[in-house]
Amino acid sequence: MTRAVDVVVIGSGVAGLSTALGLAATREVLLLSVGDGSTPWAQGGVSAAYGEDDPLDHAHDTDVAGAGFCDPRNVRALVEEGPQRVAELIAHGARFDRNADGSLSRTLEGGHSRPRIVHAGGDATGAEVHRALRSALERTGVRTMTGRTVGLVQSESGSIVGVLVDTGAQTEQIDARAVVLATGGIGNAYLASTNPSTVRGDGIALALQAGASLVDMEFVQFHPTVLYTGETSGQLPLVTEAVRGEGAVLRDIHGRRIMDGLHPRADLAPRDIVARAIESTMRRDGSNHVWLDATAVAPDVLRRRFPTVLASCARIGVDLLTEQIPVAPAEHFLCGGVRTDRNGATEVPGLYAVGEVAATGVHGANRLASNSLLEGLVFGRRVATALTLDLPARDRGRTHELALGEDRDPERIRTILTKYAGIRRDGAGLNAAADELGSAGTGPLATVARSVVAAATARQDSRGCHWRSDHPHPDDRWDDHIAVRLDEAGTSPEISNMFLSYAAQK
Ligand SMILES: Cc1cc2nc3c(=O)[nH]c(=O)nc-3n(C[C@H](O)[C@H](O)[C@H](O)COP(=O)(O)OP(=O)(O)OC[C@H]3O[C@@H](n4cnc5c(N)ncnc54)[C@H](O)[C@@H]3O)c2cc1C
Repeated sequence: MTRAVDVVVIGSGVAGLSTALGLAATREVLLLSVGDGSTPWAQGGVSAAYGEDDPLDHAHDTDVAGAGFCDPRNVRALVEEGPQRVAELIAHGARFDRNADGSLSRTLEGGHSRPRIVHAGGDATGAEVHRALRSALERTGVRTMTGRTVGLVQSESGSIVGVLVDTGAQTEQIDARAVVLATGGIGNAYLASTNPSTVRGDGIALALQAGASLVDMEFVQFHPTVLYTGETSGQLPLVTEAVRGEGAVLRDIHGRRIMDGLHPRADLAPRDIVARAIESTMRRDGSNHVWLDATAVAPDVLRRRFPTVLASCARIGVDLLTEQIPVAPAEHFLCGGVRTDRNGATEVPGLYAVGEVAATGVHGANRLASNSLLEGLVFGRRVATALTLDLPARDRGRTHELALGEDRDPERIRTILTKYAGIRRDGAGLNAAADELGSAGTGPLATVARSVVAAATARQDSRGCHWRSDHPHPDDRWDDHIAVRLDEAGTSPEISNMFLSYAAQK
């Protein structure tokens, strides 16, 4: 059975919901998803510079965290349009935490020069953002459908004109004038991640198959602090950076401060710096965790601000209020992704990407904390605006299917990527990873893993969250971004070129 709509949006996280909501009044939209992605799990908040805060200071902090590798024009769109998008979210019914005088409560996180993170339910911001967007969308009557997108439909001229959806009972084709990938990150390609299992890089693999390129795939962000539960695989509970924002500090297993003297912002240094310091400390001490010590923070602040973290701690029998808790880094966020212009257009006509799956350049080499919910809100709206103004004409020519393959041994792929393309990388390990992935097939996880390994192998310097122990410093010979495309056989990702700007060239 085939049906047709104007726009198919794949993914019901902050980016997909924002896009669908922005299109609801003007286009016939179908929102597809396999369930909830990372959005409802987000804890810390949404960054927004308003009032006495200056969006340009926010832009500066974003670029510093991004190791000077951000796209300045897109960062400007993010910080300048952000407060308006947050205000609209409030108008849709989102309840952010407020001070006694009614003003929005704003906290500090790593890399921010001032408190500008708005939050909800203490540390349950993503759930509230998700709830508010979902209920706003329900009020519009936009149709939603549960099922995994297992392929795209492409016309002879190369445009994307539809999707293939596995509903469990059957594979259904849905024709569309535009398809928007809002499929989130790649957490499931690593053994341990903060992301839920629905986040597995399908959008990355679909975009490559369609002929789009990826950019900045080597910049995979590891969150410095997930709760060390004894488990080393699957989705692990996050301990938001905002706990350090309230005064908690990191200690090694001997009780010594880890971040003292390492960075002027100490425990609130950008994420990549803190994650590297923890990795090095664990390696030095032969330990599988370090300690996060929040015992000097007032208990009522911890109770009010971090109910989610307290509940995770309680599940493993530790108490954030009175004792140090064990933490370790885990995969968290993909800074790169599908190369798009500022309105989400990829190089392939009819195919758009938004949110964590997209690379707009706002994260550079390392995402600033609490900028990704904001990215979904801002760029979701931008895609919706673009598709309201101009929707590609329906291409009625002959079509063919681009179906996703199956990963034969997902656990093996995760093990390889984790071992060789984690926080610390080197050329020998990355070459070994490429060899070992040679027999991993062409499923989405294998494609994601090969893309990360190809880009990480090519970049022979260290910047942001890409750390090569054999090339430990930034090197201006590597100031270009690295793009990845499928090879001519259409099976394996390879480095396609180096380029200076994010904007997709048509
Ligand atoms: C624990 C945690 C805490 C975080 N805290 C913060 C924070 O405080 N502030 C912040 O800004 N960011 C935070 N982040 C990051 C942020 O939550 C994500 O980057 C953001 O929510 C991504 O939104 P998205 O809409 O791009 O994707 P997601 O929310 O991940 O949604 C992806 C969607 O795609 C769908 N999908 C995927 N593949 C398919 C397919 N083949 N077919 C159909 N559907 C598919 C999924 O079902 C899902 O609906 C956090 C992330 C995690 C995991």
